[in-house]
Amino acid sequence: MSFWNAFSITTRYSELPNCFFTYVQPTPLENADWLIWNSELAMRFGLPEMPQNNPELLSSFSGETVPSAFSPLAMKYAGHQFGGYNPDLGDGRGLLLAEIADKEGNRFDLHLKGAGLTPYSRSGDGRAVLRSTIREYLCSEAMAGLGIPTTRALGMMTSDTPVFREGYETGALLIRMAETHIRFGHFEHLFYSNLLAEQKLLADKVIEWHFPDCLNEEKPYVAMFNQIIDRTAYMIAQWQAVGFAHGVMNTDNMSIIGQTFDYGPFGFLDDYEPGYICNHSDYQGRYAFNQQPKIGLWNLSALAHSLSALIDKSDLETSLEQYETQLHGYFSQAMRKKLGLLSKQEGDSRLFESMFELLSQNSVDYTRFMRALSYLDTQDKQTVVDLFIDRDAATLWMDFYLIRCESEAENTEMRCREMRKVNPKYILRNYLAQQAIDKAKEGDYREVDVLAMLLASPFDEHPEFEQYAQLPPEWGKKMEISCSS
Ligand code: AMP
Ligand code: MG
Repeated sequence: MSFWNAFSITTRYSELPNCFFTYVQPTPLENADWLIWNSELAMRFGLPEMPQNNPELLSSFSGETVPSAFSPLAMKYAGHQFGGYNPDLGDGRGLLLAEIADKEGNRFDLHLKGAGLTPYSRSGDGRAVLRSTIREYLCSEAMAGLGIPTTRALGMMTSDTPVFREGYETGALLIRMAETHIRFGHFEHLFYSNLLAEQKLLADKVIEWHFPDCLNEEKPYVAMFNQIIDRTAYMIAQWQAVGFAHGVMNTDNMSIIGQTFDYGPFGFLDDYEPGYICNHSDYQGRYAFNQQPKIGLWNLSALAHSLSALIDKSDLETSLEQYETQLHGYFSQAMRKKLGLLSKQEGDSRLFESMFELLSQNSVDYTRFMRALSYLDTQDKQTVVDLFIDRDAATLWMDFYLIRCESEAENTEMRCREMRKVNPKYILRNYLAQQAIDKAKEGDYREVDVLAMLLASPFDEHPEFEQYAQLPPEWGKKMEISCSS
């Protein structure tokens, strides 16, 4: 009897017509073996806490065998990449294996990234390398730890399959989980292929599966679009507040449910540098850190255009007009929380802007600065001022901030306690990921484990891992990550 018989497995997406996907069997990796397994996430779905004792788990996820309950398929989509429309996209190396329900009955996609060739592989090899797989695993779990909407990672495998990039690398596999893998690009594909009845069906399914409340609205498709806008605005506001740059905000990497999706050359800010470009191939800085809110609107506008057969132009425009206000609202809310401010007051924007200006002018580490502010219950304000070259300007801002704090009802102790719950001590700095990758290449996965553990609870103190919260070394600052993954 198959291990999977005990689980509630479906694949609702496979009920859609042919133009939505192709059935593809995974191509197994040679000698695949677990590199890391997300016990906490696994247990939410009733999966084993430890995978090692279950050979069927390994063979089902490595592509060695395909359980009868699974119906692996490659999704077809399109998308705007760096501003240009590309009709020829789809899961080129990813496969939707099946949907599995958690204990509350919420269904999640089980998706393999790096599972071999598909009809949408174009010139690619269908594989993912160790380096990029570790980065996606760690970052998606880091985002989850930070409370930012994201896809999740259930586990990761390494193998003896050689994969050629700039040189030979190790082939790896990521098991990704998300409520859906539907992207903006799914709608674009159907619109530009003039498959409008199918696009309407997709909208109906997205509403049924993910936004059922929209059915109570007078215009369900408009309500769906509003939900997508709202979630996208929320997600990007959280990125800006924590200092995360995605790096490749193409519309095929935008989740329809507003989750951070498809981790590639992302980066967290070290020094607060608004124009930070993490993607080595982004010559124009289209996806620079401070461009993300604007690109979110650009992407939503591209989606709106593709929905023009379903929704009136004037409704689309009215909906899009909400985006900037929503994003600004979510961002201010997040910044107030980070600064420990309970009430909304006039002048708060000025407080934030002057803070960002000061951080940028003095090249101060964003995460360490915010964390330092949350220790003013036990430490002197000078510890924060000392992070700046221009101490006079820093003192002025600190006085401005502390006066603002006095207008709140809570005391310093309460404020700081709350601040430490929203200002992470640990983020996935690029150099930390790189160190874990370098060790993993030698077969030592302990750094990956340590980072996974720290990033799952980034707001807690872990005194024995203090060095992971330090400033990056010079070599580790401003690392640009190549897109080849
Ligand atoms: P990404 O930049 O990872 O979002 O990928 C953009 C598109 O290229 C998607 O359709 C991917 O499936 C495809 N792709 C990326 N890398 C590979 C690869 N190694 N083999 C096949 N397809 C790939
Ligand atoms: Mg992608």
